[in-house]
Order: sequence, then C-alpha cells, then structure tokens
Amino acid sequence: MDLTLADFVLFVLLASGAMVVLFTIVSRTLHARAESRSLSHRVICRLCLHAFEHTGHTGVVVCPHCGAANEKGRSRRLG
Ligand SMILES: [Zn+2]
Repeated sequence: MDLTLADFVLFVLLASGAMVVLFTIVSRTLHARAESRSLSHRVICRLCLHAFEHTGHTGVVVCPHCGAANEKGRSRRLG
C-alpha cells in the first residue's frame, strides 16, 4: 500500500472530522431529548422566577426557593 504522510494526515483529518460531526449529531439528539423531557417537568415560579423541576401530578407546586404556590401546567407565555 502506497501511503504517503500527506495521505495519512488527510485520512486522519477526514476521519476525525467525521467523528466530530457524528458525535455532535448524537450529543445534540440526546441533549434535545433530555431537554424536552425536563421541560415538561419544569416549573417557573411566578413570584421569584426560580426554575425548578417537579415530576409529581399535583396541580399546585410549592416553590423551593420562596415558598410560593404555583399552578402547574400553566406555562408562562411572553409576547
Ligand atoms: Zn419562588
């Protein structure tokens, strides 16, 4: 096999580039999935705007930061 140093370097660069692209796609997919999952449990306090996660099914969630009661499921819409 006639492999010069330039060919080898080019191959390594292409291979690492492909690896980076692949890793980026995979990590982005996993991250987006985890984010959408955590967003469904995310509650933002109406009083102090502290964001926290709540996985229960109760309608009212008490903020761990200021103790205010927040109604779950009513997302805050800006604009
Ligand atoms: Zn709060």
